[in-house]
Amino acid sequence: MPTSEVWSLSDFEISKYIAEGRFGKVYLAREKQSGYVVALKVIFKAKLKKHRFHAHLRREIEIQQSLDHPNVLRLFTWFHDEERVVLVLEYAARGELYKVLRAAGRFTERTSATYVASLAGALAYCHKKQVIHRDIKPENLLIDIEGRLKIADFGWAARSNAKRHTLCGTIDYLAPEMVEKKAHDHAVDNWTLGILCYEFLYGSPPFEADEQDDTLRRIVRVDLAFPSSPCVSSEAKDLISKLLVKDSSKRLCLEDIMKHPWIKKNADPSGSCIKQKDVTRSKVKR
Ligand code: ATP
Ligand code: MG
Repeated sequence: MPTSEVWSLSDFEISKYIAEGRFGKVYLAREKQSGYVVALKVIFKAKLKKHRFHAHLRREIEIQQSLDHPNVLRLFTWFHDEERVVLVLEYAARGELYKVLRAAGRFTERTSATYVASLAGALAYCHKKQVIHRDIKPENLLIDIEGRLKIADFGWAARSNAKRHTLCGTIDYLAPEMVEKKAHDHAVDNWTLGILCYEFLYGSPPFEADEQDDTLRRIVRVDLAFPSSPCVSSEAKDLISKLLVKDSSKRLCLEDIMKHPWIKKNADPSGSCIKQKDVTRSKVKR
């Protein structure tokens, strides 16, 4: 794994604490010589050791460093000292898509389609490189200064073209084959894209329930309903219905998502959503 021994924390001027991760903290920083603004993810080795997470982190680093796509958060380099491992990441100034979505309530068709198209493009790129993210959810999607979506946090990603058996991911976004602990492949990310598309448009994921077991049951049954309010176009519902399909081999493939009439009609080719003041604030009626 290429890393430069010359880098150390003293090369960076830390300007602000951004957020807490599982094993450390994320900071906004500036590389002193170039003035380049980055995010530093500082991970404590003691915490990694306690949770036996070394291999996991190594995989996250190896995978993210091999990816170079406008909608995938760049990992520029990494280094370590006695106590810490530091990832030098592209800075996503507008933060988590999750917070943007919660603040807005839901997104317009234009914003939703733009994000779905960005995600489909990034996932197509990852799948071509045999990388399955497996933890696509709004918390792991960041927005840069220009309003472009960036897939982050490759902590659960796998590099594989074979089918895999591990149960991972967050419950609302789990594909049925993962709930049923069956073998799964890259089609789990296509399912998640259907969940996200629904959540962008309606403000909450489709199989939400008070009890986790009920959510899991609804996923396995594909208990999908489109509320009458808010009003969502039939083309958007058509795309969601073609992604939330139990048989993973019958889900719409990423290339066909890009060609779908709803995407063609609504997605902004620039991938940016900030110039539009089109984010609605209404809540979903159920
Ligand atoms: P978790 O298990 O909570 O997801 P994690 O250790 O996997 O934590 P990340 O998800 O990578 O850590 O980062 C934690 C949070 O820090 C993110 O949810 C986001 O709010 C913020 N963050 C991480 N990287 C960046 C970045 N490059 N630019 C801006 N904010 C970031
Ligand atoms: Mg995370």
